[in-house]
Amino acid sequence: MQVVIIGAGISGLATAFLLQQQARANGRQLSLTVLEEEAQVGGKIRSLRSDDGYLCEWGPNGFLDGKPATLDLCQQLAVAEDLVRSNDNARRRFIYALDRLHQVPENAAAFLRTSLLSPSAKLRMAAEIVIPPRSGGSDESLADFCRRRLGRQALERLVGPMVSGIFAGDPETMSLQSCFPRIHQLEVEYGGLFRAMLRLARQRRAARRSGQAVASASGPAGVLTSFAGGLQQLTDRLQEVLADQVQVSAAVTGLEPAGAKFNLQLADGRQLTADVVVSAVPAYSFASLVKGFDQQMAALLEQIPYASLQVACFGYRRQRVAHNLNGFGYLVARPHAMPLLGTLWDSSIFARRAPQDCVLLRSLLGGATHPEVAGWDRDRVVAETRAALRQTMGIDAEPDFVQIFRHRQAIPQYLVGHGRRLQDLLQRTARYPGLFFTGNAFFGIGLNDCVSAAQRTASAILATDRSRQTE
Ligand SMILES: Cc1cc2nc3c(=O)[nH]c(=O)nc-3n(C[C@H](O)[C@H](O)[C@H](O)COP(=O)(O)OP(=O)(O)OC[C@H]3O[C@@H](n4cnc5c(N)ncnc54)[C@H](O)[C@@H]3O)c2cc1C
Repeated sequence: MQVVIIGAGISGLATAFLLQQQARANGRQLSLTVLEEEAQVGGKIRSLRSDDGYLCEWGPNGFLDGKPATLDLCQQLAVAEDLVRSNDNARRRFIYALDRLHQVPENAAAFLRTSLLSPSAKLRMAAEIVIPPRSGGSDESLADFCRRRLGRQALERLVGPMVSGIFAGDPETMSLQSCFPRIHQLEVEYGGLFRAMLRLARQRRAARRSGQAVASASGPAGVLTSFAGGLQQLTDRLQEVLADQVQVSAAVTGLEPAGAKFNLQLADGRQLTADVVVSAVPAYSFASLVKGFDQQMAALLEQIPYASLQVACFGYRRQRVAHNLNGFGYLVARPHAMPLLGTLWDSSIFARRAPQDCVLLRSLLGGATHPEVAGWDRDRVVAETRAALRQTMGIDAEPDFVQIFRHRQAIPQYLVGHGRRLQDLLQRTARYPGLFFTGNAFFGIGLNDCVSAAQRTASAILATDRSRQTE
């Protein structure tokens, strides 16, 4: 079986590696090729160590070890021993609201004390326990869900910033069911979030007594985990293991079904034929590849928009920043005129992100609520970041080190109805046996989600091959 995987981000590379592992374990032969248009693999994952000694992440800065997918992958790649866990104090997270930083309350006592929410907003949140579950199974926006169950202030000061931090998204348009399926499930199963927390805590106490495990209401969170040299160590290792099965500077420009096979056209003029093609590229790239033979599939893919981001890494000598930087960083409450979504105190999260006696702050600007930021040049991004850091953290000093990364299409937006579109897309793709798609535009944007989806794609490919052999 000849398999071509298009795209060498974490999704494409993990699919290739896990497919190879599963094929070997089952004694199956396959010829595997991964095609990547850029000159290097990794997609959104890229870690740059500057000459000054700062380690800047282009995209993700870690994955949560509360889910097994990425950890298992690291174990299979024999790099688990190189993993580094974030510092303990990185659990402290902050929200910028009402002109200052507030620590996000971690327990009931802190919730009662916090000045992040007004007393009436706290009462409104507590009233969640008596709000009946919504009838009907249709999707709704995160904002509607939040206003309905927790109140407006919880949306603006807790959920809104979280949606900016994870998806760079607008809660008014994002799907509850696709962005936070666990929360949706808790309302359906237990009638509400507080009810779920109480019931699950009771079940956990009972289970502990009988030695069984029960999930918590918040689901698997975990500790942010990376590598000393940044996350790129993971994708570099995948490239090393897959060796010459990965081709870089190899953009796919055309795809068409040809009987039971597929023909691929490359930008460098080469043509390839494959029994199985896996798209692990962004939705808009996949759309341009299928447009020639399936307009409806392309139209569905084009309904997944992307939010843009600019990432500003600022390095300072420690004594020039008065703030104690004791925590993970902060997100900005919404709606806000400021284009800053939040700032991560990278050198407080992981060791050796900045030279001795220096600190590294990484700010995210733009997102779905501030699309104009995508067009800003470097000087504008630096000026706006400096203004935002002055306002939020009181930093006046000019940074000693600056690195800006622009992501024109950074993060796919799971809009209301995403689940329905995904089902339509799966049905549409089923018309072309041997065509698969994976990647962060569909089944979750976190690295754990991408690796889990890669695992399922690898299993599905081998299952199709098996059924073809028995036909
Ligand atoms: C700023 C930022 C911060 C983030 N932070 C976190 C975090 O802390 N934790 C976390 O879990 N997740 C985080 N994420 C999300 C996570 O990084 C992504 O969801 C994940 O890396 C996407 O991987 P992917 O392989 O699906 O897609 P991509 O990384 O986009 O890879 C797709 C690849 O396909 C290639 N390609 C496209 N078209 C073609 C073509 N025609 N031919 C050949 N190749 C093609 C591209 O060049 C690219 O390499 C963050 C994302 C961003 C942008």
